[in-house]
Amino acid sequence: MIKFLDLQKINAQYAEELKNAVAEVIDSGWYLMGEQLNHFEVNLGSYLNSKYVIGVANGLDALRLIFKAYIEMGIMKEGDEVIVPANTYIASILAITDNKLIPVLVEPDLNTYNLDINKIEENITARTKAIMVVHLYGRVCWDENLLQLAHKYKLKVIEDNAQAIGAEWKNIKSGTLGDAAGFSFYPGKNLGALGDAGAVSTNDDELASTIRALGNYGSHQKYVNKYQGLNSRMDEIQAALLNVKLKYLDVENERRREIALRYIKEINNPNIVLPQMPMDIKEHVWHLFVIRTVERERLQQYLTDNGVQTLVHYPIPPHHQEAYVDWNKLSFPITEKIHLEVLSLPISSVLENNDVERIIDKINLMA
Ligand SMILES: *Cc1c(COP(=O)(O)O)cnc(C)c1O
Repeated sequence: MIKFLDLQKINAQYAEELKNAVAEVIDSGWYLMGEQLNHFEVNLGSYLNSKYVIGVANGLDALRLIFKAYIEMGIMKEGDEVIVPANTYIASILAITDNKLIPVLVEPDLNTYNLDINKIEENITARTKAIMVVHLYGRVCWDENLLQLAHKYKLKVIEDNAQAIGAEWKNIKSGTLGDAAGFSFYPGKNLGALGDAGAVSTNDDELASTIRALGNYGSHQKYVNKYQGLNSRMDEIQAALLNVKLKYLDVENERRREIALRYIKEINNPNIVLPQMPMDIKEHVWHLFVIRTVERERLQQYLTDNGVQTLVHYPIPPHHQEAYVDWNKLSFPITEKIHLEVLSLPISSVLENNDVERIIDKINLMA
């Protein structure tokens, strides 16, 4: 069976370095808020060219903390609206509703699967305070029009960069395009920890300092609590592991691009819609390789029978989830079509060429 994602194989490449990094933390006797986290924040900051990086417990917290900080700063308040793609992973939406802000769902562009920037302006109201873009599947969602809209309506732009670390728009790294960004280092992400971890990046001094406090019980100074914060810290072991893996991120992303290019060039089954390679290949880091077909179930079964594991990202759109029962009757036809038709093929830095060839052959042979 060709696995959808072989995490063991990915981490085995760096096993010795990873084990040494963990051993160093164990021996140091210091497990939270230490040198490893400092190094990681500096390393990721210079990789991204971002003034601040704040390590937190996971990607959802990174996004939640951005909104929470804007509320503490008086820039947003309960009931304000945030524009967000209807086609996204639930975490993007949870970060908004958890702060009692109102998500305004906007349809994606069927060619990129990302938020349709042309549909933002018609959804802006007097209560809109922010646009959250999600660089879904690893593809940057950005253009000049988005910047102009944000400027015209004085909106914050927040990036959900959980799936797109390393991607670039005009030589600027995703995660530094807007006012603030959330990153996830969930093990299956392009930069994966060996457990949960996340980060916020921003160039805004006040936002950075507020988030740093909010993630540490609302305190800048031990036992002095300025805010009602939470406990969301990246531990030293995860930071040490990420310091090792960050060095290999670009090489791994390059391998993903190589595989994506082969899939796009060589899959020629007319029943399958392939993802579009952006004009500038650096805009995509291929966290997922998502194809579309009206016969999704049949294709998935066929590939399973032929030894290829696939997954669906995602089967149920946020507005159809029980968690958001008030939205269940809303209609987002493009989003719904995507959720009915998408299938993710294996793509990772450790997928072998002969596996890629086998997957392509099997797909092309399906009648
Ligand atoms: C993974 C992911 C998150 C959440 O990250 P966690 O580390 O799992 O909390 C948020 N948004 C998107 C788009 C994701 O893919």
